[in-house]
Amino acid sequence: MSIQNPVFIPGPTNIPESLRKACDMPTIDHRSSLFAEILPPVLAGVKRVLKTETGEAIIFPGSGTGGWEAALSNTLSPGDKVLAADFGMFSRKWIDMCRRHGLEVQVVEAPWGAALPVGEFAAILAADTEHQIRAVLGTHNETATGVRSDIGGLRAAMDAAGHPALLFVDGVSSIASMDFRMDDWGVDVAITGSQKGFMLPAGLAVVGVSRKAIAAMETARLPRFYFDFRDMLAMNPASGYPYTPVVGLLNGLKAAIAMIEAEGLDAVFARHHHIAEGVREAVRAWGLPFCATAPESYSDTVTAIVMPEGIDGNAFVAHAEKRYGVSYGAGLGAVAGKVFRIGHLGQLTETQALAGIATAEMAMADLGIGIAPGSGVAAAQLFYRSSPVLAQRV
Ligand code: PLP
Repeated sequence: MSIQNPVFIPGPTNIPESLRKACDMPTIDHRSSLFAEILPPVLAGVKRVLKTETGEAIIFPGSGTGGWEAALSNTLSPGDKVLAADFGMFSRKWIDMCRRHGLEVQVVEAPWGAALPVGEFAAILAADTEHQIRAVLGTHNETATGVRSDIGGLRAAMDAAGHPALLFVDGVSSIASMDFRMDDWGVDVAITGSQKGFMLPAGLAVVGVSRKAIAAMETARLPRFYFDFRDMLAMNPASGYPYTPVVGLLNGLKAAIAMIEAEGLDAVFARHHHIAEGVREAVRAWGLPFCATAPESYSDTVTAIVMPEGIDGNAFVAHAEKRYGVSYGAGLGAVAGKVFRIGHLGQLTETQALAGIATAEMAMADLGIGIAPGSGVAAAQLFYRSSPVLAQRV
């Protein structure tokens, strides 16, 4: 492949050149002092990104899905009750995983496009006076619908109910791109993967665990081995990693954290918001609805756009890829065919976002969708030109 456009899928993201080089390293002995130069700074850096001082970072070979499984299997026992909402493909899949682990899931159905229903969770938790619910699941950023949920509000609801359940948060498409506060929000297990905000290839499940989750692990009876927190937390120079680590990706993660911190975590969040606002201006100019129904829940990493009646969003995605070599996110699950998604996370600039908007316009025009070519680009340009200048070379 000699010519490669940026991708506009909501992860894996485009990989900055320096991170690709950091992953590409000769074999080192993962029981040597060389590995000690990689792993400890990575764990400390992940804790800073998650904003936890009291918790621990654990990194498994895997991806976000492995992180989900680690959260469940390390803290819960067969038959335990968990509370979750079905409001998008990823929250739905996590529910499926719970069931396959023999957990009892109380599911709150919410419209796909709405945020996690904190009010309903609050009522359920308040009514659960015997504290049967052992864990509450929250998808911070539902990548299928482009919806961000209020995890701080969820924690407040749990506290108001005086409920001791563990709080697990899927931050797969938010962590390192949008504000995430593990300690402030009382998150017991926070989950992401290497291929989203950290801008790396897929291959790592990045997990933050609270003291409460670590305590729960002692009595949890779900089987686990590869994803056992205990082996990871017991790691020391003598015992080493419990199995062969993905050294190149861990070295990449060290470089990614340095890159994020050089820009500044808040500046990274501000850049994502800025790029996202430009994309949203373009969508408004096209006259197409957002899948996300409430402006306060618009995601800064992915925008899901509802296609006009009779137009298959997945046909649009296929056409854009075939004709222009540009990838957008397809609609998933209940919104398959109804939406397409523009991913805008990772190291994206205004210029790249404009290219993604312009190409989407061409592909939509090809399919006879009645948008004025250039309208979205013009709206995004206006927004970017009139907004404070952000770093363009990060
Ligand atoms: N959760 C969310 C919100 C996601 O967006 C994804 C993947 O896109 C996952 C979980 C699954 O993560 P992975 O594909 O890394 O296993």
